[in-house]
Amino acid sequence: MSSQRKFFVGGNWKMNGDKATINEIIEFMKGPINTNTEVVVGCPQCYLMYTRQHMPASIGVAAQNCYKVAKGAFTGEISPAMVKDCGCEWVILGHSERRNVFNEPDKLISDKVGHALEAGLKVIPCIGEKLEEREGNRTEEVVFAQMKALLPNISDWSRVVIAYEPVWAIGTGKTATPEQAQDVHAKLRQWLRENVNAQVAESTRIIYGGSVTSGNCQELAKKTDIDGFLVGGASLKPDFVHIINART
Ligand code: PEP
Repeated sequence: MSSQRKFFVGGNWKMNGDKATINEIIEFMKGPINTNTEVVVGCPQCYLMYTRQHMPASIGVAAQNCYKVAKGAFTGEISPAMVKDCGCEWVILGHSERRNVFNEPDKLISDKVGHALEAGLKVIPCIGEKLEEREGNRTEEVVFAQMKALLPNISDWSRVVIAYEPVWAIGTGKTATPEQAQDVHAKLRQWLRENVNAQVAESTRIIYGGSVTSGNCQELAKKTDIDGFLVGGASLKPDFVHIINART
């Protein structure tokens, strides 16, 4: 991994946890964590403030979604301004579950990314191909199209961490091999070089997500273009600390 890019590990709790389990997570997050890794946890909206208040200050807290405008008649939504008001700095947008369970299209995700950045949040936009797309040799076409949709709304790349998460690897126990992940990450970096610029390509963190565990994180972390992880299931368990420390 390039020394320019700080290793980044995000946890995505999804719709899991209550105050009691969040307290347990907070306890293990006080464990020995490599300060060379930037760590962020994505928690359910209703626990954003609680988590921010109790999680060590060195660990960022992210919302798992937010809407594309600041306020208004959008029942059930939250805005980036609200995330900030809860003391949080980050938001995960376009997660495959948002795309595929809630049918969020590229344009909506892009608008959300644009507004979250304008509002001052840091953003983890997620991209990735489905199994049939990979099997049809369409991985590049799919992830490049997802990147292209994001492009017009990204003003400040220093506040963006791209999560490459093949849909077939999320929550399935089927991890991309380090070679498969590296291949897509390298292509994404080349895409950034060609479609944004060399500086953004070199400095933007591209993290991998999809069944990362304490058992496979070290091999993945050795790859040049893998700058960290987005972790679902394993971020709820003490093992998460081993993943955070994968490069130690
Ligand atoms: C995720 O939720 O982004 C994810 C990668 O989940 P898991 O690690 O459980 O596959």
